[in-house]
Amino acid sequence: MGRITLEGVQKSFGPVHIIKGADLDIADGSFVVFVGPSGCGKTTLLRLIAGLEDVSDGKILIDGKNVVNVPPAKRGLSMVFQSYALYPHMSVRGNIAFGLKMAGLPKDEINRKVEAAAATLNLTPYLDRKPRELSGGQRQRVAIGRAIVREPKAFLFDEPLSNLDAALRVQMRLEVTRLQKQLGTTAIYVTHDQVEAMTMADKIVVLNGGKIEQYGSPIELYQKPANLFVAGFIGSPKMNFITGPDAAQRGAATIGVRPEHLNIVGDGQGWPGKVMVAEHLGSDTFLYVDTGAVGTLTVRCAGEKGVQPGDQIALQPDPNRIYRFDGSGNAIAA
Ligand code: ATP
Repeated sequence: MGRITLEGVQKSFGPVHIIKGADLDIADGSFVVFVGPSGCGKTTLLRLIAGLEDVSDGKILIDGKNVVNVPPAKRGLSMVFQSYALYPHMSVRGNIAFGLKMAGLPKDEINRKVEAAAATLNLTPYLDRKPRELSGGQRQRVAIGRAIVREPKAFLFDEPLSNLDAALRVQMRLEVTRLQKQLGTTAIYVTHDQVEAMTMADKIVVLNGGKIEQYGSPIELYQKPANLFVAGFIGSPKMNFITGPDAAQRGAATIGVRPEHLNIVGDGQGWPGKVMVAEHLGSDTFLYVDTGAVGTLTVRCAGEKGVQPGDQIALQPDPNRIYRFDGSGNAIAA
């Protein structure tokens, strides 16, 4: 079991208040991603759960038991870091086995567990190699193997893929997701990459300035962002925000339209504007259009549109996909 609950968790470093009251219920077996801009407190929140930092106030419950005074090694959690933190002089086998050896497990049992983890992670051919003889992706798999053999209640991942190149990141993203589903172990995963968050998570925690802005499934956050921050953070390219008379007309201080919900329409309709930049990706065309009246709008069209910079076009939002926000930036219910 690995249910993790936070109740009013606060953290200050000296006079600086970093985590400003976090309440969260992470179901056993779920994959939860902490996402948010640099410095918002993702790593701090993860380290509080791991026990690597002490809470200033509040409770952290693991399967119903408050662990704020329990040392990290006794919380039953395994952490995987961005830096891998492998022992360079030990083989892959030695690295994966290390924690089990320290715990004094019998040799046969250690071998069995190490070999099972290596098989799951496609590391069997590399068991006798040293970390320097491995690729970045293989090294990260060794770090994950070391976490798996401890059979933790939860895995805590701190940006584990950010040292890898783009193609390997995508591959490892799929592998980590598949592995977590196969093992059924609760996972908390920190990233600043919203695509990673959207593709890996059962539920996402969006953090901003030490506060949880929203906790929900990727599609909930995309379809029903609670406020302007979440609306602007989730989705790529970013949502367009429009204020002034066009928003007031729809009973809002700000309206939001995602680039994929703007359509190119004929003359005399919608917002007229001039194409400033056109990005042709083949699968999609991204247009940056200066409308004057409602500012620059980003448009995402499926396929190739044959539009060029300097072209005059008009844009209309899908009327069912307009997000409305009040003067405090909170979403107005549809
Ligand atoms: P990033 O994506 O850049 O890693 P993050 O969201 O993980 O950011 P944290 O590392 O949790 O952010 O840091 C949150 C804030 O707390 C930052 O302003 C950071 O400077 C501050 N902070 C973190 N650790 C300490 C510390 N030990 N002492 C003082 N301030 C700290």
